[in-house]
Amino acid sequence: MLYFVGAGPGAPDLITLRGKNLLEQADVIIYAGSLVNPALLDYAKEDCRVYNSAEMTLDEVIAAITEAHGQGKTIVRLHTGDPCLYGAIREQMDRLRALGISYESCPGVSSFCGAAAALQAEYTLPGISQSVIITRMAGRTPVPAKESIASFAAHGATMVIFLSTSLLEELSRELIQGGYRQDTPAAIVYKATWPEELVLRGTVGTLAAMASAHGITNTALILVGEFLGDDYELSRLYAADFTTGFRQAKE
Ligand code: SAH
Repeated sequence: MLYFVGAGPGAPDLITLRGKNLLEQADVIIYAGSLVNPALLDYAKEDCRVYNSAEMTLDEVIAAITEAHGQGKTIVRLHTGDPCLYGAIREQMDRLRALGISYESCPGVSSFCGAAAALQAEYTLPGISQSVIITRMAGRTPVPAKESIASFAAHGATMVIFLSTSLLEELSRELIQGGYRQDTPAAIVYKATWPEELVLRGTVGTLAAMASAHGITNTALILVGEFLGDDYELSRLYAADFTTGFRQAKE
């Protein structure tokens, strides 16, 4: 059996209990060494075989899994954050299915949740934004033309931008072209939940300057929107004049 496990955003105690149990049981761990905190490997058995997939191709990963599976081993494929975002898991799942190797997924805390915690922010503020757009700039991996940053910016909703820290001038341009103001609040969260976490607050127009002032070129999220400001409406859920299935409105 192979388990895709979400490692969480960095701090080793932000893996789920299920994920930790799976790491403790694993005979083989293949971890995404470019982003997964190696401290998580401390949960592994002493004789566990560990591969760093940052140094491997898809074929090599599949070969390692196939060999371990043939020996009846329990395998953990450890991905950063939650594997469902930019995890390249589908291509692995399809290969495993074709090989008759069964697998399960264990979710993790995505870095965009770690970034909200670092910012002490709520992405979905009443009266401001009730949607979160998770996207990226086109880099070596293309983004479909219909999903341009400018087209998403036109919604004025909360945006979380992955994998784009080296493209901040272009990102600012596209955000403004789409409808955000130069002074719309924006933030950069570098290595959320790691000891070296850094939270930088500024505006859409200052993103590139903020990153270069701190030498940040990777492992960061860009957060954009008025949720970073001070105006919002109170929730209906906790309003005194609101009746829910659990509580009667107070007169
Ligand atoms: N599956 C992961 C994302 C993998 S893509 C998740 O759910 O978080 C890799 C990108 O995620 C990085 O380029 C960076 O934009 C972001 N990222 C991953 N870990 C991060 C962290 N601790 N802090 C900030 N950004 C992070």
